[in-house]
Formats: sequence, structure tokens, C-alpha cells
Amino acid sequence: MSTDLRARAWVEVDAASLRRNLGRIREAVGPGVGLIPMVKADAYGLGVTRAVGVLEGEDPVAYGVAAVDEGIELRELGITRPVVVFSPTDRGAVDEAVRRGLSLAVSDPEALAALAGAAGRVGTAAGFHVEIDTGMGRAGFDWRDASAWGPAVNAAHGQGLRWEGCFTHFHSADVAASDSARNQWARFRTALDALEPPPGLLVHACNSAGALRCPEWAAGAVRPGIFLFGGRAGDLPDRPLPVASVRARITRVREARAGDTLGYGATHVAAPGERWATVGIGYGDGLPRSLGNRGQGLVRGRRVPIIGRISMDMTVVDISRVPGAEAGDVVTLIGSDGEETITVEEVAELASTINYEILTGLGRRLPRIWTDHGS
Ligand SMILES: *Cc1c(COP(=O)(O)O)cnc(C)c1O
Repeated sequence: MSTDLRARAWVEVDAASLRRNLGRIREAVGPGVGLIPMVKADAYGLGVTRAVGVLEGEDPVAYGVAAVDEGIELRELGITRPVVVFSPTDRGAVDEAVRRGLSLAVSDPEALAALAGAAGRVGTAAGFHVEIDTGMGRAGFDWRDASAWGPAVNAAHGQGLRWEGCFTHFHSADVAASDSARNQWARFRTALDALEPPPGLLVHACNSAGALRCPEWAAGAVRPGIFLFGGRAGDLPDRPLPVASVRARITRVREARAGDTLGYGATHVAAPGERWATVGIGYGDGLPRSLGNRGQGLVRGRRVPIIGRISMDMTVVDISRVPGAEAGDVVTLIGSDGEETITVEEVAELASTINYEILTGLGRRLPRIWTDHGS
């Protein structure tokens, strides 16, 4: 658990676990199905530069990002394989996307026309993936109206545009009780059948949960995100190997006197004999403030309660039951220490959110320190 001695807090990210989680997705969908790792939001907060360094070795068919700037970042890292921008793209960013050879998801004829215009201006063919909305609602051509918009899509291929893919997005593949993915898949097929795609079109629908729960709809490729980065996909029993650990150092220890108050609002009052450790991490680093007086940390392999409110830069834990704990000790807020583990899901639950939000909310102030251990 040693790291840069200057860091007050950091995120440890394990490359071997990322690789193995990808391997689990690959096993679930079988050979012949392409992988499109979703590396949006700085690879779910863990650091896209190192993440793609690992993923490149796995030969993905493409990468998925949400924004043109994220695609440009991949190009600047020297990534030459296809990169698909999945969120609808602002018109102002389309030319640059085409210049950088990014493929755009399109949701309406206007987006196709804008892309064709950009391709003309830039003087190169632009790739696109047709999104079909089968119930997610935020983007995509309406699956019911394929006969209306289909001709425009069919005609687009060739005229400066390259129709590379077609996809939909499941809204509840992470919920065991939901049968909605079946319905969405049927809707997707209905719309697809009304189109005349070019040979070799890449068809895809599954996120992490979809790939694990319904690999029969993996089609040409799957788009896993959260599972790669160590987050469970909803209520699926498959547990990924943890990838990210959040650790910080004890920067000060004090013996509190009974009645001493702690933190903003003085919400914790010392009982006799309490030892308090100030830890160099706070909500300004993405540690949810809602863990104040509720969450825990790990010190020397033992669980210790977070006491008082979490400040922007500091958190205090009660180390009364950890003999010998001292300044410089590492506190684990997410991850394992000895036999004990705090999962990202445990933190998310306490913070009334989901693992995705915890990971993507980890602050820029925390250096990402990559290891290659496996766990
Ligand atoms: C984020 C995203 C995914 C990945 O979803 P996970 O639940 O993280 O696996 C897949 N497809 C699209 C279109 C996305 O935006």
C-alpha cells in the first residue's frame, strides 16, 4: 500500500483487474462478438490515458465516449481505431469530430445532414452509427417510424458518409425483474428490418448488464462500462474484480476529551477515551459528504467510523479501537485492507446513489496511481 509519500490521498487503479473484468465480459458473450469499451468521463473517473493503455492490448473493435472532446483526447493519445461519440453532438463540434475521424451517433435526419455538411467541408468521409430509440427516450430515431426516417438513412451511406453501425440502449438490463430488454430488442429488430444497411454493419445493444444478463442479444458488439471499472452492474450476481481503491493518510491524531465537539455543526461529541484521526480527504475529493457520521474507513485492517461532518478537505475517523494507529497511516475509504473491504457499492448505498456516480465523482485532486496486481 505504499505510494507517493507526498500524496495526502489518491486513487489506486489496478490494470490486471480491469483486464480480467473485460475478459469476463468476453467470456459471457463468446468469441466473435466485438468489444466497445466505454471510456467516457475519463474512463469512469479512473483515468482514460492509462485505461486505454491497458485496453489497447485487448484489441477492442472501437471505443465509446460521450463527447467530441473525449474522442479528441483518444486521438491525441495516438489511438487510431474507431471511436464512437454516443451522446448527440452539438452542431458546433461536428466539423472537428469529422476532422479527427470520430464516428458520431445520429438520432435524427438533421444530425445526418449536419454530418454530411461537415464531411463536405472537411473533405473526408464521416462515419456514423444510427441510434434507435426503443424506450430510453433521451436519443435515437423512434423505432416505430423507421419507414419514415429509414430512406434518409439508407441514402446517406456513400454520399460522403459511412454508415458503420446501428444500436439501441437498454434502460433496465440491470434489474432482474424487468422483461423490458426483451421488448426493446424486439422493437430494435423491427426497426432494423425496415432498413437497408450496408454489409458489415456493426449492430450493438448491450451495456455491462446487458452483456452479462442477455448475451443472446450481444449481436456484433457490446458496450461495457461500469463492470470493466469494478462496479457491479445493478443487481446482477456477477461481481467484477475491484479496480479502484480510494486511500488517504492520517495527517493528525489527537486524544479527545469527553465533551469535545467535532466538525461543522459540532455533530459529534466525544465520549470518554476517544482517539480521533484527521484524514486528508474530503468532499472536495469526491468523498460523499453524506458519509459524515455514517460511513467507515479501514485502518490497519479494521473498520473505523467516520465521525462528524465531512469537510471539503478533511475527514475524521475514530481510531479508539485501533491500537498504534498514528499519523502517516493509510486509511482506505474504498477498497480492501487486510481482510476488510469497503466496496464502491457500500459507499454508493450510504450516499443514496449508484456506483457510477461515486467513481465519476472522484476528484481531480486525487492522483490516479496505477498498479498491475490483480486481486
Ligand atoms: C455509458 C454507456 C454504456 C455503458 O453502460 P454501463 O452500464 O456502464 O456498462 C453503454 N452504452 C451507452 C450508449 C452508454 O452511454
